[in-house]
Amino acid sequence: MSNPPDPELLSLNTATVREKWNLRQMIGGCARHRIRGISPWRDKLAEVGVKEAAKAIRDNGLVVTGLCRGGMFPGVDRRARQAAIDDNLRAIDDAATLEAKCLVLVVGGLPLGSKDLPGAREMVRDGIGDVLDHARSAGVRLAIEPLHPMYCADRACVNTLAQALDLCDELDGSGSETLGVVVDAYHVWWDPSLKTQIERAGDKRLLAFHICDWLVPTADLLTDRGMMGDGVIDLPLIRAWMEGAGYRGFHEVEILSSRNWWQRDPDEVLATCRVRHQTAC
Ligand code: ZN
Repeated sequence: MSNPPDPELLSLNTATVREKWNLRQMIGGCARHRIRGISPWRDKLAEVGVKEAAKAIRDNGLVVTGLCRGGMFPGVDRRARQAAIDDNLRAIDDAATLEAKCLVLVVGGLPLGSKDLPGAREMVRDGIGDVLDHARSAGVRLAIEPLHPMYCADRACVNTLAQALDLCDELDGSGSETLGVVVDAYHVWWDPSLKTQIERAGDKRLLAFHICDWLVPTADLLTDRGMMGDGVIDLPLIRAWMEGAGYRGFHEVEILSSRNWWQRDPDEVLATCRVRHQTAC
């Protein structure tokens, strides 16, 4: 067993407590539980307003470890794809206002009614390419999050770290370091090439590390994620690979759990996150 992680590196992805708390409560909760990082979702930001939210986050001494999320590039027609681009440009501006470490890209799946997976992947590549200059000039890093293949149809047709890194090389190979990846343990723990691909990414491309656990059995594709330590992912091993590759950033807890953690008192959830970060990560 490796040494426990630095408790200062714990971050809260606000999806973890999204059912019971608004953004102000989340910010207060992080401060109370001495969680230094926060990663808000845009729906919660919209309730407060981005400038107000940025101020509240700063006033509480928190670091925005990521903004969730941009992406969703494929569309049924040109208009739909342009709407997605416009939305991503706004998300980049919001990430800049928040001084977020990155804007997380969940890239999108097949357009409704389509079976053209290679085509969807081209739309993703083109979409990221279309917003990259804006991100670069805004000083916002874009983090492609490969999602588990079970989400390929409806959420993300980028499913492995290798695929995400290929996109980084193709679109951002000049070394500007605007484009990188999120390693979310839930999505990539099963991948036989995970260690190699984390090494390949290196500290320049590793922009965020999301943690939770894979429950056996998993009752729901989206909202049955486990607290660290309750499932089968060897989180200390993956953290060791990340650190070996030079990653020094936050460990962001992201637990979508309709049957368990969303039902509980968020203060209990945050207290549990702090303990499990030390004992299971
Ligand atoms: Zn994630």
